[in-house]
Amino acid sequence: MGAYIGIDLGTTFSAVSYLDENGAPNIIDNPNRSAGDNITPSCVEFQNDGPVVGQQARAKLQLRGKAFGRFKREMGGSKTYDVNGEQLTPTDLSALVISEMKKIALSEVGEIEKAVVTIPANFANEAREATLAAAKKAGLQIDHIINEPTAAALYYAFQSGEDLHGHYAIYDLGGGTFDVSIIRVQGQDMEVVASNGLHKLGGVEFDEALFKLVSEKYLKETGEALDPLDYTLNQAEKDKISLSTRSKIVAGGDDEIGDGSVTIQIRRQEFEQAISALLAQTEMLCEATLEESKLKADQINQVILVGGSTRLPAVRESIKRVFGKSPVPVDNVDEMVALGAALYAALKSDGAGLNTAQSDRISKMTVSEIANHYFGTIATVHNPNTGQDEQQNSIVIKKGERIPCSVTEEFFTARDNQTSVDVRVTQAGRLETDPQFVKIIWEGVLDDLPPNRPMGQTIEITYAYDANQTMQCTFVDVKSQKKVVANLSLAAGEGEESAIDQFLVD
Ligand code: ADP
Ligand code: MG
Repeated sequence: MGAYIGIDLGTTFSAVSYLDENGAPNIIDNPNRSAGDNITPSCVEFQNDGPVVGQQARAKLQLRGKAFGRFKREMGGSKTYDVNGEQLTPTDLSALVISEMKKIALSEVGEIEKAVVTIPANFANEAREATLAAAKKAGLQIDHIINEPTAAALYYAFQSGEDLHGHYAIYDLGGGTFDVSIIRVQGQDMEVVASNGLHKLGGVEFDEALFKLVSEKYLKETGEALDPLDYTLNQAEKDKISLSTRSKIVAGGDDEIGDGSVTIQIRRQEFEQAISALLAQTEMLCEATLEESKLKADQINQVILVGGSTRLPAVRESIKRVFGKSPVPVDNVDEMVALGAALYAALKSDGAGLNTAQSDRISKMTVSEIANHYFGTIATVHNPNTGQDEQQNSIVIKKGERIPCSVTEEFFTARDNQTSVDVRVTQAGRLETDPQFVKIIWEGVLDDLPPNRPMGQTIEITYAYDANQTMQCTFVDVKSQKKVVANLSLAAGEGEESAIDQFLVD
């Protein structure tokens, strides 16, 4: 029987886990690295005989060449990467990382029954689709994806047995993104109450801040600009990690800077000052998320840490400032997401592939997710103040709405003898009525409507958002029953331009 596996496809590092015979998730170490290597850099290098994923590629990131990393930040976007004249997408590169994680999994489990890949909670629809397309390209059949903080929470609840009751915060600060979620847990049942993220705030920004600090000091001391070849971002990252355990370091460490004739010392305090504005942003987001949950900080039982950057002492201090308590010490901040994903793979299966011990442990758990954006439509609305018709974004599904859900709203035609209606699906992070500030994720036309009807004909709009985070949007002219359906499907096929397909039904 095949195994249930979970893949944390991280911006910086990826991890894979499987559900063991006893129903507990375990990390699978990368057999290509030294013993105990639980995570693999999400970096790809193109060598003459093909792509190689992992540490070697990560070490070469700063050099001009064929090594790529951090492409998760570009998922679903238009950026491409030139490899010997061929333009690769972030999806192509992620597929190579997923293939590697699959290979690591197969070194332990022989066969894969079901796999789940995780994504940040605030990933836009196209980035979700791109992730599924990457998994498909890597030859993994993915029926379910799960948000990273939800996966971490699921593992935490699993590990705590029946002990958790009340509200918890999942604080995930990795290499490229920050995510915070508030969850409500009753024993083995968990529900996401609110979830927010900052797309480009993580370890890389801290490395850059340290790099800048070192450059400034170097200039001050020598009167010369620091040669970027003498001190790289990779070195800045190593120095940053040293500063997590030491109060003072020499920049560049043993490698030193340049020929070693100049020594630049950095105190932890100076570095913390340099990243304070970034941490202030995370604090504001935590406060906004608490507000969205209608909770006060003291109603959060515990703050659970996820992600490598939570090892920074300044991050733990920042958490204390917001939540009024220290986070729970955990030693596997790098593994929580992948471990939760393997549990979710089993949880979402029909159970046929599970042994008795596994189904016993899994059957007690439930997870409820929420919509991660506001989804709406642009409608023409009469403004009584100006006497004019105006385009307005109307929300159909609210951010934070528990999913699966299906919401139907009525709209009306704005003109007499209107035989077609432009229909649009919008997405926004905030409650927004101005169409300028929302993203249109799909547009179509409901046409061939019967002529000669007065304005005010009912157009019924239904958005059905399923547990797997795909959404079907239906626009119906009620009288004639003409409809147009948009399937914002995550199951993107390889080579397809977009996973969003549309079809018209008479
Ligand atoms: P991602 O989810 O983006 O893949 P991870 O959770 O694996 O990221 O975290 C990677 C980040 O954690 C990197 O930026 C790395 O420099 C940082 N990191 C790892 N260990 C430490 C440490 N001891 N102190 C500070 N930062 C650390
Ligand atoms: Mg991560």
